[in-house]
Amino acid sequence: MSKNLLLTLAVYRIILTAGLTLDLTELQLLGLHDQLSFEPSDVETASKDFGGLKRANPLAVLHPSSAEDIVRIVKAAYESAHGFSVSARGHGHSINGQATATNGVAIQMSSSRKPALTIVSEKFMYVDVWGGELWVDVLRSTMEYGLAPKSWTDYLYLSVGGTISNAGISGQTFNHGPQISNVYELDVITGKGELLTCSEEENSDLYHAVLGGLGQFGIITRARIALERAAQRARWIRVLYSNFSSFTQDQEYLISLHGQPDTQKFDYVEGFVIVDEGIINNWRSSFFSSSNPLKVSSFNDEGGVLYCLEIAKNYQESNADSIDQEVEDLLKKLNFIPGSIFTTDLPYVDFLDRVHKAELKLRSKGLWDVPHPWLNLFVPKSRISDFDQGVFKGILGKKTSGPILIYPMNKNKWGNKSSAVTPDEDVFYLVAFLRSALDDGIEIQTLEYLTNENHRIVRFCDDEKINIKQYLPRYTSEQEWIHHFGNKWAQFSKRKMEFDPKYILATGQSIFKPSF
Ligand code: FAD
Repeated sequence: MSKNLLLTLAVYRIILTAGLTLDLTELQLLGLHDQLSFEPSDVETASKDFGGLKRANPLAVLHPSSAEDIVRIVKAAYESAHGFSVSARGHGHSINGQATATNGVAIQMSSSRKPALTIVSEKFMYVDVWGGELWVDVLRSTMEYGLAPKSWTDYLYLSVGGTISNAGISGQTFNHGPQISNVYELDVITGKGELLTCSEEENSDLYHAVLGGLGQFGIITRARIALERAAQRARWIRVLYSNFSSFTQDQEYLISLHGQPDTQKFDYVEGFVIVDEGIINNWRSSFFSSSNPLKVSSFNDEGGVLYCLEIAKNYQESNADSIDQEVEDLLKKLNFIPGSIFTTDLPYVDFLDRVHKAELKLRSKGLWDVPHPWLNLFVPKSRISDFDQGVFKGILGKKTSGPILIYPMNKNKWGNKSSAVTPDEDVFYLVAFLRSALDDGIEIQTLEYLTNENHRIVRFCDDEKINIKQYLPRYTSEQEWIHHFGNKWAQFSKRKMEFDPKYILATGQSIFKPSF
């Protein structure tokens, strides 16, 4: 079908479906023929995400070649009598349709047609990137200068705008804070179609609103990200525990070292729970050799839950002589099961990109594009052992269908001005149930089973009054959102009225209900 015919049909569909005032003439006046797509394959892609749990079709997809293209679309939505939704779609790695734009325009920020914007400043140690840039590409660009961002996610095929609309966390967060604590400046297109630069000093209300703002206040087109001198290698270590309080005490001790000199702390602290009786390897990272899989039973006679502390130390090749001693000194202070140390050593970039290898393996087996009913919770330190008793040793039973991460973070590294929400304690844990649903006849791996189990976990926390906060939250009623944001809600909704008064942006989050 010709492009013009597709365009005409789609515009009639827009008018019929949504009753919008945006007509063909207006669209043509926008001058975005080469960027606006109504192709069914584009619409299909933008209707889905990694979660695979929800579909919502946009009417059109914008492949922006500049921030100006986005300004035009958002202005058109804002100025039209009825409005229509406009959602930035980063890499579509949300779980519950957060980046979709039902009957509106999805902006494909990470599209291959995205503007090339990356500029590294060695002098000021930052990189400017397009909002849709993937972190893996940010890393590639900065490594050319021997520099790298300080704060990461475990997986790098996520967009800058997508992770900083949430927080962006990993094993470095205890030390550097989440990614939102490592952004100096942003260019943002508000829901009124204004393109504003914001930072701690300039338009600071918008800056704080957007960080962790779930896409509600504007579309990030440029981010200035803090850099550090990149390490060359990483020593990556896993040790095992059968005692939960020893495990968490050690994790908390390690994150308390954040203010110490680099030689006296690890650079990365994470951990995971091993409930299954099988091997310790999981999809998240191939660490133990597959020809020599590690059996949980060899460390756990009673067959109970095991906990794996995962730590890494970054270093330069010129310091290779001292790394063994530094690691040994730190390990000496920990109380893991004797003999349960597993070590590997690899280039720093491979360490950061470790999950991608596992992704490729799963893709080759057709196990990547399956439903992912993920649940991410922040659990206050004071209740983590109740959580262990009730969930890891209780609700989960013996099978988990995917990795369960657990690691603590220091609240003082988050700042308190952003939109991100965390528990009200100095230290809190991420507990992430990263499970894949399979339709292979095994009941405990089905989507229904895992979804019900997620509900049971959240209900358990409610019943036991464990004040969790969801990370990458998903709620449908206003009451739930008000409860989620707690004392940040009044400011969050006030900022929404200021920056997106017609509720045009990121409607897939289902926080504010637009009138169209
Ligand atoms: P999308 O899903 O495309 O968008 C997410 C939200 O952000 C939407 O509301 C969207 O409208 C909005 N948005 C996107 N781009 C912009 C923009 N430029 N401006 C304004 N709003 C925008 N998270 C962690 O913190 N740490 C991890 O280690 C981690 N690992 C992950 C591993 C995998 C395999 C997956 C699937 C997810 C992981 N996540 C992790 C979660 C991830 O950070 C979020 O799902 C994030 O939103 C994904 O980025 P994205 O670019 O795909 O965003």
